[in-house]
Amino acid sequence: MAYLQQILFLIALSTAGYLIYRRITLIKKTIQLGRSENRTDNPSLRLKTMILIAFGQKKMFDKPIVGLLHFLVYAGFILINIEVLEILIDGLFGTHRVFAPIMGGFYGVVINFFELLALGVIVACLVFLVRRNILKIKRLSPAAHAEMKGWPAIDANSILVIEIALMMAFLKMNAADYVLQTRGVGHFAEVQTGSFLISSWLVPLMNSYSDTVLLFTERLSWWFHILGIMAFALYVTYSKHLHIALAFPNTYFADLKPRGEMTNMPAVTKEVKIMLGMEQPDATPAEVGRFGAKDVKDLSWKNLMDAYSCTECGRCTSQCPANQTGKLLSPRKIMMSTRDRLEDIQKGWLTNGNDFTDDKNLNGDYITEEELLACTTCNACVEACPILINPLDIILQLRRYNVMEESKAPQSWNMMFQNLETNMAPWKFSPDDRFNWSKDINS
Ligand code: SF4
Ligand code: SF4
Repeated sequence: MAYLQQILFLIALSTAGYLIYRRITLIKKTIQLGRSENRTDNPSLRLKTMILIAFGQKKMFDKPIVGLLHFLVYAGFILINIEVLEILIDGLFGTHRVFAPIMGGFYGVVINFFELLALGVIVACLVFLVRRNILKIKRLSPAAHAEMKGWPAIDANSILVIEIALMMAFLKMNAADYVLQTRGVGHFAEVQTGSFLISSWLVPLMNSYSDTVLLFTERLSWWFHILGIMAFALYVTYSKHLHIALAFPNTYFADLKPRGEMTNMPAVTKEVKIMLGMEQPDATPAEVGRFGAKDVKDLSWKNLMDAYSCTECGRCTSQCPANQTGKLLSPRKIMMSTRDRLEDIQKGWLTNGNDFTDDKNLNGDYITEEELLACTTCNACVEACPILINPLDIILQLRRYNVMEESKAPQSWNMMFQNLETNMAPWKFSPDDRFNWSKDINS
């Protein structure tokens, strides 16, 4: 029986490991679809940014209560999973609480700490479920934001329920184990851990169970806990919760430019300088390439990593003046549409091979011209994002393509472009009249 459990455990672990590895490889390949961009400058500032924003969750604390609850779930879930190491060793080698004899009395202290964290995770997840489904917080509500309808809402709720179930299984396993120890049943009698802080609340209930039911409860909770963690790890790679891993590289490689400094196209800047006599034309002009972005491969790899890192929290959309005034634009939806496009390409690879192409593009088929034109380039979305995602950068590249390659600018913009070209200002006044306002001074 013990060998059977070990064999089943090995099969489950290898299957989960293989599926997760396959999925991560596919996501990496999808992000590499983007054009190259160097984000390796200033490593010390990058490291500091990552530690503060991803590890310390600094921006989450802009909303202190939510920030604290989020930190509890994050820290709790990460730290409790240290205990998974023990479960892995027990599962593979058929041992039981292998660390207990090594750690002595300290073992109980550590498990009690994990139990406190588990309780914190349960409470925080319950609060998050209430906020989403009963209080219906506007930025998270599918009724207020079309992009949150369907899968995004199911995804957000199911992950909270899964986390509660995993923590409950952990507590139930500890409670059943303790009662089995006190009754001296089998190998449970050999490892005396004493009762635990939180799971002891379940002990009165467990005391009414027979030994057989208790053994079954302990094994069921143990298997549910570890299989649940394996399934969770795989599920995360399909979910917005991928941010628990990608937030780290995403903040490390974040844009270090001052907010509002736009990325110019060097070829265009050079042309302007040549026009103004600031540079001499080259004998062989450089290849310009595409102006802006038509599809995901025209965006940078960092734009694509942003899309996979988005938590769909909607902080960007709630700060967006275009969205607040009823325009179609939602910066969260820009990130979700970019990810949808990447996922559709992935599906194409899996069903039709790596040469898969379709006649769709991110620009037009997933993100409309109306959305792009509504952006005021105010940067509020960039400022609001807790993991330094930049939806504006994608908007600008898509808009640049529409304007420069498709000449799809609104009439009022075309007039402005013309004025810039002829008057060197957006207004329809001659540059010679620019100082007319000063004529009456001291007259
Ligand atoms: S930069 Fe554009 S998308 Fe971002 S908040 Fe401002 S208007 Fe909205
Ligand atoms: S872009 Fe940032 S702020 Fe906007 S939904 Fe995604 S994670 Fe939240």
